[in-house]
Amino acid sequence: MNMSEFVMNHEVITRLGFFFGILAIMALWELIAPRRVRTVSKVFRWMNNLGVVFLNSFLLRIVFPTAAAGMAVFAQKHGWGIFNYFQFPHKTVVMVSSVVTMDFAIYLQHVMFHAVPVFWRMHRMHHADLDFDVTTGVRFHPLEIILSMLIKFAVIIVLGPPVLAVIVFEVILNATSMFNHGNVRMLRGVDYVLRWFVVTPDMHRVHHSIEVDETNSNFGFNLPWWDRLLGTYRAQPCMGHEGMTIGLRDFRDTKRCTSLPGMLAIPFLSKVTGYAITGRTREKPKDDH
Ligand SMILES: [Zn+2]
Ligand SMILES: [Zn+2]
Repeated sequence: MNMSEFVMNHEVITRLGFFFGILAIMALWELIAPRRVRTVSKVFRWMNNLGVVFLNSFLLRIVFPTAAAGMAVFAQKHGWGIFNYFQFPHKTVVMVSSVVTMDFAIYLQHVMFHAVPVFWRMHRMHHADLDFDVTTGVRFHPLEIILSMLIKFAVIIVLGPPVLAVIVFEVILNATSMFNHGNVRMLRGVDYVLRWFVVTPDMHRVHHSIEVDETNSNFGFNLPWWDRLLGTYRAQPCMGHEGMTIGLRDFRDTKRCTSLPGMLAIPFLSKVTGYAITGRTREKPKDDH
């Protein structure tokens, strides 16, 4: 059995291995070289953020037992999607193009989750975290998880990526999400070079700023190019990484933002303000009397 067969046959164990491996590495890095001082108890946040992860994994297995890889197998069997319909000779090119295209789709999906008010309601749970660390990277509302799986299904049906590409993409996305939410310090020069190839913690932290213009920038999770190409890139937060405030203006209560029941209720609370498209108001004209 070669490597790709092993990965396909052991999808769940491969994904779990990467999840706990990266979690352990990032947790250690955060202990040794933290970037910011925490505002909420780490034990409390971690218990609840990881609680969401377990809830989501459980829910996904029930709702979509074979997940995205299953959809790729289905598309392959029926000859659906560009890469299944047309026969491309270069397997590596198909693999790389599939992963890059799926990453672009995730970028667009993320922009949509910020712009459309009803989607923002779900996504703001991710942003309501009052601190920013490795566990923020896996903290998403179950409704957002289900919706993004449906969007992934649609992308797979149109694209027809190889099954291995889908699994590789999901493992990379999970790993980079945990990496780029890390409360970790790295040399400025290393960050500068690295962010040409992958979204770094300093790059994604800008996206978790309380300031609307900073929240609505750096949507990439994995490849940093989409933000640079499409004009949503912002190098650093205005107040600096130590001085900036993490989270959302309307959600500052620790219990609401950090406890599991509080987090799950976020999509159903209060009005959509500031951040989504409809909440962005023009500046009031100056009174000229
Ligand atoms: Zn976001
Ligand atoms: Zn994030």
